[in-house]
Amino acid sequence: MERPRIRVISRSFGQYCSEALEILKSFAEVDVKGAKSFDEMVEAVKVYDGIVLGNEKLDREVLKNVIKLKIIARHGVGVDNIDLNAATEKGIVVTYTPQANADSVAEYTIALILNVMRMIPKLHDNTVNGGWNRILGYELMGKTVGIIGFGGIGKRVARKLSGFDVKILVYDPYVGEEEIRKFGANPTTLDELLKSSDIITLHVILTEETKHLINSERLKLMKKTAYLINTSRGAVVDEKALYIALKEGWIAGAALDVFEQEPVDPKNPLLILDNIIVTPHNANFTLEALRRTDLMNAEDLRRFFNGERPLYVANPQVYKQ
Ligand code: NAD
Repeated sequence: MERPRIRVISRSFGQYCSEALEILKSFAEVDVKGAKSFDEMVEAVKVYDGIVLGNEKLDREVLKNVIKLKIIARHGVGVDNIDLNAATEKGIVVTYTPQANADSVAEYTIALILNVMRMIPKLHDNTVNGGWNRILGYELMGKTVGIIGFGGIGKRVARKLSGFDVKILVYDPYVGEEEIRKFGANPTTLDELLKSSDIITLHVILTEETKHLINSERLKLMKKTAYLINTSRGAVVDEKALYIALKEGWIAGAALDVFEQEPVDPKNPLLILDNIIVTPHNANFTLEALRRTDLMNAEDLRRFFNGERPLYVANPQVYKQ
């Protein structure tokens, strides 16, 4: 039987996990070659049976040209760069890698909490520059941590916090109270969480409803001693309001891994504040998360071309038609 042809368009697939590429080569002819232009994408969907896709756009216009393509493996968690309806209409299975980086982001969130409460980056900068200035910090033990958004990452943050002797409050209107209690956390309203938490960490997806969820009004509800952590999406926080809140001492500090505009504008006034820690959308970037992502793609492609159903299908409707 003829071996399927797979085109690896994603630039990062296999870079940190040669085994993933080996898995593909064990059953398919593999071409590792990026595709930037519309024409290159059209060529890929015409010639190949499977594609490993990064952030490149695969819309209806491109998918109109499909001849052989049967499966798209999205190398990542989000599938918003693929027109899922168009793919489903063509009978193409789309796989993705849900929660592949959730543990990395949850661990990083806890690192940011501890770092901002002790101002470790500032201590480091000062020490390597010849200083010996100590900074009075705070313990996490005994504090109340408010988690907004209790999906894959929010739940992991709760689980990983369980050894820190903290009280955990959760606001997520789409998750049942019983489910929240299973993680040793207490469900509450948004206002109550804002008023009672010493640390507030954001883990919602970005939607119309969550855009600027943290605005001036809500920052004013927070304790003056509280910290805000954002590893979700930049636009969940109104940055202008946060700047005023940090500058005028409405809250004690913030740690941000994500920004309304990325890469962040070097002139963004948040960057020069004293009570903030910032990082470049780095929470998911670990060897383990990248390898997990590669292997989830490779194993699902193997399953598919072996006649089995892949585990992580983003358009399960395709199996109903
Ligand atoms: P998820 O879909 O598993 O969970 C999101 C949760 O938000 C859901 O439980 C949902 O019910 C809840 N939610 C939706 N609207 C809400 C609202 N109005 N109020 C409160 N809760 C609401 O997503 P996830 O995988 O846990 O990801 C969480 C966030 O982390 C996303 O914004 C994602 O883009 C981001 N993320 C960031 C990085 C990074 O490197 N910084 C990496 C991966 C994911």
